[in-house]
Amino acid sequence: MYPTAFDYRAPASLDETLSVLKERGDEAKVMAGGQSLIPLLKLRFARPELVVDIGRLPHLNAIGRDDGHLVIGALARHVDIENSPEVAASALMLAEAAHWIADPLVRNRGTLVGSVCHADPAGDWGSVILAMHADLVARSASGERVIHAADFFKGPFETALKPDEVVTGVRIPVGKGRGGGAYLKLERKVGDFATVAVAVHLHLDGNKVEAAGIGLTAVGPNNIKATEAEHFLRGKEPTDEVIAEAARIASDAAEPKDDIRGSAAYKKDVVRVFVQRGLKAAVARAKEGRS
Ligand SMILES: Cc1cc2nc3c(=O)[nH]c(=O)nc-3n(C[C@H](O)[C@H](O)[C@H](O)COP(=O)(O)OP(=O)(O)OC[C@H]3O[C@@H](n4cnc5c(N)ncnc54)[C@H](O)[C@@H]3O)c2cc1C
Repeated sequence: MYPTAFDYRAPASLDETLSVLKERGDEAKVMAGGQSLIPLLKLRFARPELVVDIGRLPHLNAIGRDDGHLVIGALARHVDIENSPEVAASALMLAEAAHWIADPLVRNRGTLVGSVCHADPAGDWGSVILAMHADLVARSASGERVIHAADFFKGPFETALKPDEVVTGVRIPVGKGRGGGAYLKLERKVGDFATVAVAVHLHLDGNKVEAAGIGLTAVGPNNIKATEAEHFLRGKEPTDEVIAEAARIASDAAEPKDDIRGSAAYKKDVVRVFVQRGLKAAVARAKEGRS
């Protein structure tokens, strides 16, 4: 199918983008890599009057460190994250997650920020940013605001973003203590969306968990932050028993549905097993200093 007719703008600067969105945000869609938006246009699930292509904006593809944070620009693609030495050194889970996304064609065009703004409950990055306690930096003509990942997802394909806002990047705290993470994904075949996936990250202080983050993919109306399991882990030594109980609590937070990928009961159990495995891997990585 062909998309309905739309105007197309490709601003040369962020300021120009923001002034276009100030005037026409309600009828516009921002496009980064187009890997989710273009299929939506072609299926006519989205019918914007204007597409604002930010793909040529300068400086937004950077990946770097700033004040204890890993900062990923809005135009950094999945493949950039997968191959980034900065990511490998400070947040290995991101490189792991990037490799699970789609296929090389999609990974060469699509962006982490575009995926998060698309807010597909089966999207992999949503769980990663929830587990890493990340912030999204949003800009509009009236200024900048920071949105915690935990406040960003409002439902399937719905976010806290306003129509005149553009996300310029994601800030992920990486400076504190000995950290380790893992991303585990079950898919029917290579390149598929998740049947279930989990993102797990923790920091150790001595033998105890100082902070933990757990995000769940494809088991609810949006990516889910397993807050109770995170709280349960805090201050405890991550023994096998503690990890098993945290995994059980995390699986209680999942709200999967029966579908062609499996039954709800099966998916809940995969969450439990993956969180357990993920936490063990995260503890091992934190102890080895492998982030
Ligand atoms: C064949 C195929 C397989 C896929 N498999 C997977 C998979 O296994 N796992 C997975 O997680 N994803 C998968 N995807 C989805 C894809 O990886 C991401 O959703 C996509 O890369 C989104 O990034 P993008 O830059 O292409 O965003 P776009 O398609 O350009 O935009 C997506 C949405 O985000 C908005 N947006 C984009 N950037 C911004 C911004 N900076 N500020 C505000 N709004 C913005 C757009 O308006 C639009 O609503 C797959 C896609 C395809 C086509």
